[in-house]
Amino acid sequence: MKKALVTGGSGGIGEAVCRKLAEDGYFVYIAYSSSEEKARKLAAEIGGEAVGFDVVDSAAIKKAAADIGALDLLVNNAGISEIDLFTSISEEKSSRIMSVNLIGAMNCARCVLPDMIHRKSGCIINISSMWGQCGASCEVDYSASKAGLIGFTKALAKETAPSGIRVNCVSPGFIMTEMNSRFSQEDLELILEDIPLGIFGEPRHVADAVSFLASDRAEYITGQILAVNGGMVI
Ligand code: NAP
Repeated sequence: MKKALVTGGSGGIGEAVCRKLAEDGYFVYIAYSSSEEKARKLAAEIGGEAVGFDVVDSAAIKKAAADIGALDLLVNNAGISEIDLFTSISEEKSSRIMSVNLIGAMNCARCVLPDMIHRKSGCIINISSMWGQCGASCEVDYSASKAGLIGFTKALAKETAPSGIRVNCVSPGFIMTEMNSRFSQEDLELILEDIPLGIFGEPRHVADAVSFLASDRAEYITGQILAVNGGMVI
């Protein structure tokens, strides 16, 4: 059975990705940071396993990766965001956003790659954001971290393709999850006006893109950014 590790598996998009990958036949390791109960409940439902670590903690990731053993798929989905003026966000918060969203994905990839390279097979999918493609006012740190993930995807894809590994990126638009619960009804109506397809994204839309990129149907695709945003950024 193929094995997948999904970071942020306890979150809105992560849960849908875990469910979809389980449907696709993967044994799924659902990585959480603080939402242990949610991850365990999901693991029981889909027949996977919950694993806890902070993506910033390299030693904890190494230990989890060693316990898991050979992985076929890593989905770097853990992420945090903060909405404020660039000049108002503290250095500490700014650095936490970069660490979790970008360095965290690099930490996880670094831990699983040696084995993938050894086996000449594997797949990594990074979850970026439309703001990493075009930048968002009041989400400067978040946009920079997500743009970094796009650069990371392209460079790592080139470096690991000769080892039979594919690295791709999914770039979601506005997806209805906890991350967006801070928006008022009025904000949501304004945002909806900017989405050409006229509906908000759902976690399953992102999960379907991940499922495709992980599958053999995408065997000739690497280093690409697949936007799932209802046309909001083209
Ligand atoms: P969410 O529901 O808030 O989930 C975030 C997930 O990240 C949670 O599982 C959380 O784990 C995990 N996480 C946060 N900090 C972590 C850390 N230090 N170490 C390990 N895990 C950590 O958010 P979401 O909407 O599903 O977003 C998932 C990904 O999609 C994020 O990377 C986000 O930037 C990206 N994205 C989302 C949208 C959107 O509109 N929702 C749009 C574009 C991109 P715990 O709960 O266990 O702490």
